[in-house]
Amino acid sequence: MLPRILLIPFLSLLAWGQSPQTALPVPRLKIALDAGHGGDDTGAKGSKGLLEKDAALSIVKELGTHLGEAGFEVVLVRRGDTFIPLWDRAKIANAAGADLFISIHLNAARARSAKGSEVYFLSLDKGDEDAAAVVALENAGAGTQPAADSVVAGILEDMAQKAYLQDSERLAVAVQLQLNRLGGIKERGVKQAPFVVLRSAAMPAVLVESAFISNRKEEAKLKDKAFLKKLAATITQGVRRYFAGGAATARRKAVDTSR
Ligand SMILES: [Zn+2]
Repeated sequence: MLPRILLIPFLSLLAWGQSPQTALPVPRLKIALDAGHGGDDTGAKGSKGLLEKDAALSIVKELGTHLGEAGFEVVLVRRGDTFIPLWDRAKIANAAGADLFISIHLNAARARSAKGSEVYFLSLDKGDEDAAAVVALENAGAGTQPAADSVVAGILEDMAQKAYLQDSERLAVAVQLQLNRLGGIKERGVKQAPFVVLRSAAMPAVLVESAFISNRKEEAKLKDKAFLKKLAATITQGVRRYFAGGAATARRKAVDTSR
């Protein structure tokens, strides 16, 4: 029998020899973050004056920091107070070769008591009935789709998200589950709706209605840095859970989700 002092280095050498893939560089997954609205399009407005475009950008910046710390590469679709047409936002993510597209918004409802977070993925038809009012608000600034270089290119662009709907639903569920925990809500499910901003995304894509800006308490929370950090950490956790669940491509499987 080998003395213990010799056995240990020998075993570690064996273990090292068995896992050569740990030495290979793992490509970083890229997340495109879209802050809703911007410029003249202010989005919804809270009773104390907070604008959705500003709150969405604050969340996106905090989320970008958290995702970066979790090892993801982040692409911000909108960095400042400018308006980018809805049709162009997913194209920016496509051009950047992003692996996920997350559009951040704030909800608004006539019922001031409405609260909490809702995660949506694209519906190719009119979607869930109770989402119609939200869709009308979010699609308001879309205008008409710019003409593509050809009819075929236009159809492909418009249908890009169709191939990713299953993964988009899984992403929506993963993020919604975490947000439910943050809000202490047990059973809120994901919703499907025809958001223009998601249509051309050639990657799994979701739209997060992060909180209700129309709810006084939630409007106040959205100005609180500690809450923004919690929200960002929660969405980041959802993204990590999504990748940990195993996705369709080899590239996504290759990521180290143990961090
Ligand atoms: Zn919005």
